[in-house]
Amino acid sequence: MSRIPDWIQQLTPYEPGRPISEVARELGIEDPDSIVKLASNENALGPSRKALAAARAALRTAHRYPDGNSYDLRQALARHLGLDPNQLAIGHGSNELIALIGQVFLGPGTDIVMADRAFVVYRLVADLFRARTIAVPMRDLTHDLDAMARAVTPHTRLVFVANPNNPTGTMVGAQEIERFMDQVPPHVWVVWDEAYIELLPPPMQPATLRYVREDRRVFVLRTFSKTYGLAGLRIGYAAAPADAIDALNRVRQPFNVNAIAQAAALAALEDREHVERTRRMVANGLRQLERGFQQLGLEYVPSVANFILVRVGAGRQVFQQLLSRGVIVRPMDAYGLPEYVRVTVGTRSENRRFLRALADLRSEGVIP
Ligand SMILES: *Cc1c(COP(=O)(O)O)cnc(C)c1O
Repeated sequence: MSRIPDWIQQLTPYEPGRPISEVARELGIEDPDSIVKLASNENALGPSRKALAAARAALRTAHRYPDGNSYDLRQALARHLGLDPNQLAIGHGSNELIALIGQVFLGPGTDIVMADRAFVVYRLVADLFRARTIAVPMRDLTHDLDAMARAVTPHTRLVFVANPNNPTGTMVGAQEIERFMDQVPPHVWVVWDEAYIELLPPPMQPATLRYVREDRRVFVLRTFSKTYGLAGLRIGYAAAPADAIDALNRVRQPFNVNAIAQAAALAALEDREHVERTRRMVANGLRQLERGFQQLGLEYVPSVANFILVRVGAGRQVFQQLLSRGVIVRPMDAYGLPEYVRVTVGTRSENRRFLRALADLRSEGVIP
């Protein structure tokens, strides 16, 4: 008999973007600043300065346990979103919240519905709780919500929709969302994962929080990792009806969110200018990348988020070749898109470095 349970050994670990320090070590590069990481949809502008100041100040009381209820942050978010504080839970990144939701609702004999090219963590969490994953084909690399509603079975507990979706950068609109919500049977909770929502101009942001206010069976997940530039601090939140938030509070660990992250997130939330600047940087960067792809004659998937899929032929090989040139992107074979790489929008000069490296690979024949 093996020392570790078989089903645990069969779980697939998440493959994260390669860290800069690791790549520098591997390539024997002395100056890690010469490496461009465009692999994890981080904010190329960095954190808000206000968030940094708040984090520094919070360090002074690092000997104290954090507020296990994140009171101040939940109050501020409630005001910001037009919700009640008891409709909010804070997590160690929204990834933790996905796992907590899984813990509450999933088990052997249950299933989840997701799109086949949606964020892979949903499937990993389903595996973790021994639930079955029903992966519904996307249409034009966009969630097919009608097909997903039809895929729901009596055993389905959760439907996950990343909107905008990672890694495709596509989104579903208000009408489709509403039609979908009317079709989903009452034994199912819908998880709207809105990790990139703040990048959209406010009129384009789907009004899914409305369903929370209406006490419908939804979770809306958001994060401080992307637009707010705090990925390294690990903090995100879930908005849901109070009974669902209460359930998450029962299963989460007492101090799941550290004090530095709480303080930084609170300050980041108030720094609207940083969010505005980030939106502009991303919009300009997407245009820069699209122009570059057009000049190279490469197909891409138009994106509303801070990353974009580009078709390069042998994605894994191009990823490796870019890596050896000090540019980290993400291969997409795990998403069934082996001809693509996903690149995060960087600063103007980072995008330029990436495009130059692509052009080199093109002239060397690595990219057809
Ligand atoms: C990045 C991302 C997240 C989560 O990030 P955390 O850092 O755990 O908050 C969640 N969902 C999607 C779709 C993402 O792309």
